[in-house]
Formats: sequence, C-alpha cells, structure tokens
Amino acid sequence: MSRAIKIQDTLTGEERPLEPRDPGRVGIYACGPTVYAPVHVGNARPYVVFSLFKRFLEHEGYEVTFVANVTDVNDKIYEAARQAGVPSEQLAREMAELYRRDTDGLGLGRPDAEPLASETIGPIVELIGALIDSGHAYAADGDVYFDVATFPGYGKLSNRPLEEMQQGEDDATGLKRHSQDFALWKAHKEGEDTAWDAPWGRGRPGWHIECSAMAEQILGVDFDVHGGGSDLVFPHHENEIAQTEAARNEPLARLWMHNGMLQFGDEKMSKSAGNIRSLAGALEQYGRDALVMYFVQGHYRKPIEYSERTLAAAARAVDRIRELVRRLDGEEPDAIEPYADRFFDALADDFNTPTALAALFDWIGEANRRLDSGEQVGAGDGLRAMLRTLGLANLLDVAEAGADDEARRLMDEREAARAAKDFATADARRDQLAELGWQVRDTPDGPTLVPLR
Ligand SMILES: [Zn+2]
Repeated sequence: MSRAIKIQDTLTGEERPLEPRDPGRVGIYACGPTVYAPVHVGNARPYVVFSLFKRFLEHEGYEVTFVANVTDVNDKIYEAARQAGVPSEQLAREMAELYRRDTDGLGLGRPDAEPLASETIGPIVELIGALIDSGHAYAADGDVYFDVATFPGYGKLSNRPLEEMQQGEDDATGLKRHSQDFALWKAHKEGEDTAWDAPWGRGRPGWHIECSAMAEQILGVDFDVHGGGSDLVFPHHENEIAQTEAARNEPLARLWMHNGMLQFGDEKMSKSAGNIRSLAGALEQYGRDALVMYFVQGHYRKPIEYSERTLAAAARAVDRIRELVRRLDGEEPDAIEPYADRFFDALADDFNTPTALAALFDWIGEANRRLDSGEQVGAGDGLRAMLRTLGLANLLDVAEAGADDEARRLMDEREAARAAKDFATADARRDQLAELGWQVRDTPDGPTLVPLR
C-alpha cells in the first residue's frame, strides 16, 4: 500500500482519501443494468471503470470485492415483457445472460459478486420492515413508501432543495403522504407476473431498495466505494442513502464515485433518446482492445464522445502498443522504469486514466527511441503492470513477434480453410502449428498466434 489514493467524492464534492473500513480490503458496489434489453456501450462504462479500478487497487496491494448487481425486477422489465409477449422472468433471465455474454466480450473478468434482485427478496423485506418499525416508512394499501420528511439528510448527495426533487413515479393512487416520498414496495397489480409475500401484502420491491439490500448483504454498511453512472445520483442513489442510513444509523458508503455519460453527437447515449449502439455491435465493429482503450482514454468522471473519430483514435493507440511489442526483446532498461511510477501515481489521483496513458506512451516513445538506436529493450515488469491494469495485457501476447514466416503461413492457410468450411484442412494446419509450438487464438481482431506453454 505504497500510494495514498484520492477520489473525487460526489457526496462531499471534495477529493477525499480512500480509507478502507477494514484495513487492506476494499469493497466496491457499482449499480449494474436493468435487464430488459441488450446493453448498450454507455451501460458498459461503469462495468469497465470499476473493473479496472479494482485492478489498480489490487496492484496497490488491496484485497478487493467488486459487486455489480443485476436489476431483474423492475417496471421496465414488466413493460418490455408485455410488449414481447413473454413472461417477465424469462425476459429478465435472457437479457441477464446476454448482458453477461456481452460484457464477457470485454475480456475484463467477472465482478466478484453479481447479485440478482429476485434472489434478494428476504433481505429486502427485512430492510423495509426495519424502516417501518423505525417510523421512516409507512404501508398504504399494500404499497410501502419511504417518508422523506423523517430523514433530515435527504438531498445531501444530489444537493437540491426538497421541493425540486420529484421521484418520477406515478402517484395516481394518492397514497403518498408527500409527493417526494418514494416506493419501497409495490402491491401486486394485474398483469405483473412476479410477486412475493410480505407482511404488508403481496407485491414486489421498488428499484432503490433492491440496491440498498444487495449492497448490505454482501458488503455490509459503511463500505468503501459506491459507484455508478452520474445519471443515478438522483433519485436512485439519494434514495439508497436515505434507506440504509435511516434503517441502520450508519453511512451507506464512504466514497461516492460517479462515471460520466457517453455522448452521441450532442446527446447522452440512452434508450429514451433513441441513439444507442449495442455493446455487442461495438465489440464486433471495433474489437475489444480498441473499445477498452476508448474507455480509458477518457477520465471516468467526464462525458466521452462516441464517434468514428474517438474510436479510430483508440484503435491507433492500440496499434502503437502492438507495433512496439513486436520489437521488444530482452530486458526493460532501468531508465524507463520511472514512467510506470508516473502511470500509477496518476491512477492514485482520482483514477486519472488519461494522464496514466500519457505516461504509458512516454514509456513506448522512449523504448522506440532506444530500439531505433540499436539498444535491446524488453517489456519488463513496468510495461506488464501498466497493461495488466488497463486490461490490455493480452497485447503482450501479440506473439507474431517471435513467430516465423512458416507459422504465419500455416495460420493464414487455416483461416482460408475455415472460411471455405474445409475443417479437415483447418484442423491439420492447427496441429502443424502446435508441433511448431504455436496455438491459434481467435480474438475479435482476428486470429493471433500465442506460444504454447
Ligand atoms: Zn443501484
């Protein structure tokens, strides 16, 4: 734990030190998708940001638990299931599977826990019960609402006066005491095909209480970092704070870390704006290396533009790394090691990936200069650690570096045979490659040769 890590905390509006509740361990909860449609590139941003933030913390010696929930009980899911004419459970299950498959395509590993709201009903009911018992919530006709007037801290995250806070829920039934109150539990309605029993009536949880319960179940309260998109600050995160703090008399989380939105032209990429690009489509079009690079080229807190221009810039940056890796051979010279320190110092300063990337490319520039003048330069621990933290260590296996012409010719012949559906020849070329010590790995950017170990 060499570096002091600072994060721009949304709750206090200040840069604050990461001071874990349990020394040496960090718990992160980042709000995941509501699974009613395939995820778009904007949905993938928190997934990438917090997966990489975890890698950085591990590099600094912390043991990290990263939780990214899946919201599988929600109004949007009922609505989408009705339109598709399938049971909502089936739609949510299929979309959750698709979400896992699409995010697997990013090649950053899975979060440590991915709880489902539908599997957390017991803790949700218990938490709502605690809020009713302590006078912070009230049941009305089978619904349960949080009474915001009983929680003086309400509004502290989004920093706005009470009268400007509208929940965006319909209250046609007039059951709320105040218009700012929000639903913890919704009585079962005709046409909704999932419901659970609770002391105040059969129904299903509201979105906000699901996250408070899922986070507490795995990380406890007063955990270290709560993350998510900046569009969730109000009402979702404001309400999570109110629920947990009112029920437990302890803070929900120590630091609030919000990522900016993807911009498409002048607009935020969102399903409602109708300008989304699916994650699966983007992976197919640009490949995972360029897509991961695209995300780290922007500071996590700021909006990033999704365009041909920004994606092409990311692809060029990846190519620069690949070209350098092809030239590497031998040891890392001491003289360029300090660039890796600068890289990690930048990440310790509010996870500044653009500044960290600048240090990485200084390393690459210096290595190229040395190679040009005939010196031997190898990857060494510095380059390895930087690329691993960015989820791009696979670029070091661009093993064509050492592959001879014979191996490359066999790989090309295998591709041609596969394209012609001549699988016998393709398998034969694969076996010949294995004899030469090479494995063909299929990547989104096409096949690549990896040494067999
Ligand atoms: Zn959430």
